[in-house]
Formats: sequence, C-alpha cells, structure tokens
Amino acid sequence: MIHPWNQPIHDRILAERDRMPHALLLHGPAGVGKLDLALEVARGLLCESVDRGPACGTCLACNWLAQGNHPDFRSLEPQDEESVEGGEGPQDEGTVEGREGAVGKTAKRKGQQIKVDAVREVTEFLQLSAHRGGWRVALLHPAERMTAAAANALLKTLEEPPPRVLLILVSHRMTRLLPTVVSRCRPVRVGLPQHAQALEWLRRMEVQHAEPLLAEAGGAPLTALAFADPERGARREDFLDQLANFTHLDVCVVAESYQTLHAEAWAWLLRWVMDLISQRLTGAPRYFPMRAHQTTRIAHAADLTALLRLQRELMRAASWLHHPLRARLLLESWLIRYTQSESARA
Ligand SMILES: [Zn+2]
Repeated sequence: MIHPWNQPIHDRILAERDRMPHALLLHGPAGVGKLDLALEVARGLLCESVDRGPACGTCLACNWLAQGNHPDFRSLEPQDEESVEGGEGPQDEGTVEGREGAVGKTAKRKGQQIKVDAVREVTEFLQLSAHRGGWRVALLHPAERMTAAAANALLKTLEEPPPRVLLILVSHRMTRLLPTVVSRCRPVRVGLPQHAQALEWLRRMEVQHAEPLLAEAGGAPLTALAFADPERGARREDFLDQLANFTHLDVCVVAESYQTLHAEAWAWLLRWVMDLISQRLTGAPRYFPMRAHQTTRIAHAADLTALLRLQRELMRAASWLHHPLRARLLLESWLIRYTQSESARA
C-alpha cells in the first residue's frame, strides 16, 4: 500500500528505474510511511508485468512478494531477542513522534540492533545471480540500528555493488548512520504530509478525533492512526489531567499505576513539557492544542530553565525505557522534577 502523500516520490523513483542507483536511503520522521514506500518500490522493480508501471499485483513475482517468499527479495530488521516482561519500549524514533511502539501489547520486544551476521547473509544473497533474471532487492529498516560491524559489512557491497542490485535503507535518524554509508546512497527525503492531506487520510481510515491525534503525533499520520485507540485516549486524558492538576499530583501513585505503561507516560510527559516550553517561547502548544488553556496557565508560572533541563533528560532517557525495573523510579523522579519546575515559581 502506498500512502497518497508518498505517491509522487514512488512514481519518481520508479520512473527513473533505468538510472536506478544501487542504494536508496529513504529518510524522514517516523510515522510517514517510509517502510510501505520502500516495499512498494521493491514491488515495482520486481514485478514481472510487461508495462513497467507500478506493481501489477497479479503476476507470479507480485504473488511471491505478497506471501513473503520472493527469492530475489530480502528484508532485514532488528531481530527478536529474548522476551522481556513489561512490554515493548520505544526504540524506533529519533523524534518524540511515534516513540511509544506497541507498549504493553506484547511481552516480546523487537531486538535493538541489526547485527553483522544478518547483514553478511544479505550481502551474500546480493552477490548471487537473480533467480528470476531481474533485480535483486534488499530492504534494511531502521538502518540506524545496524551495529558498527554490520554497517562496515554493508559498506563493501555499497562500494562494489553487483549489477541490478538495489539496497533500500529506511531511516528515521539519518544522522546516526555512518557518513560513509550515507554518502554511498541516494538520499530520498520522505517528510510529513500536508496537514489537510493527513487529516483527510485519517478520516478515510475512520479515525475519530483525527485532528488532536494528528497534533499529538506531531503531524505523522501513521503515528496518529496507531494512537487512535479509545482506551489509550482515556489513559492519556487521565494522565494529562494529573499533570494539569500538578499541585495535587501524587507522584508515587501515578508512577505506580503507569509502571507497565511507562513508555506511554514518558511520551505524554515529554510532549506536555515541550508544550509548556513552546507556550513560553512561541505562545502556542504543539502536541495538545485541546489543552492550551491549561498549558498557557501552567507555563507562565513555571521555571523555564527547569523545564528545559527536564526536557533534555526525558529525551536522553529514551534508550533506557525498556528496562521495566527502572521505569517506575524514573517516572517517579521525572514527575517530582515536573512538580518542582512548577512550584519553584508558583
Ligand atoms: Zn506484478
């Protein structure tokens, strides 16, 4: 499936298939459909219908791809590691958008890294001749999860690519890739869609309250769609009520009740703090516009320096969040810091 806002990028890439580079780097914020775009480009290249347009969806190659067993296609993502109780931590994103992942829905979390052995297997596959006599395509996502050794293993293939091979790297955080990898790929920026287009798509997906969800998702429609769960919405409202009513915030109780959903709580607290900062600096919130009346009031009584410090700490904490034992204590300490940033001035 190609999202409407990515259609022009998709068409442009496939229109240039005769000058296709050996590696594309699709980069941009999370939740804008980069992976679907990458899959659709792969389908378009591997499709065996005669008209060389977008994938036909009916030929043998298209059917194999749909079933996940095309012999000339590989897709690589961080491998599953041992299961961890307490749900999946946010690991994907470079920005606050869409960082939550499938919090609490599964005990098995995705592994953190794309390892060197997995990359070697893919580069060996790319050296083979194509089973179908056409392209061989490998997809890596998110590419910034490659270990240094994995990235170096990939580099050899990027430097001396076999003919009719396309590597598609998908990255939410291009700055985390080795510059030597980036410089050997053709970068394709996949940005946020226009607000109206994103809203229209969400409404077509029958999402209720699309506008505030899109704001919470920072404009990323797939993230907004993932947020559109009424139970999640109720939890968010409850959590934000607590933050808005900070003079009565019982830090221990809140930290305890959100300890299994700490990644959600973390993301809401971070967005809330960013809204307070943004209220002070620009006069408008970004993530929770429906709560503007509260964030305006709170922001003006808050200690801006303390808020900025808390924001930095929250952002740095993203990679620790998958340790469930630390989660409650971390959440507790952030909430204390939050109430202090308010009471310092109040
Ligand atoms: Zn086809």
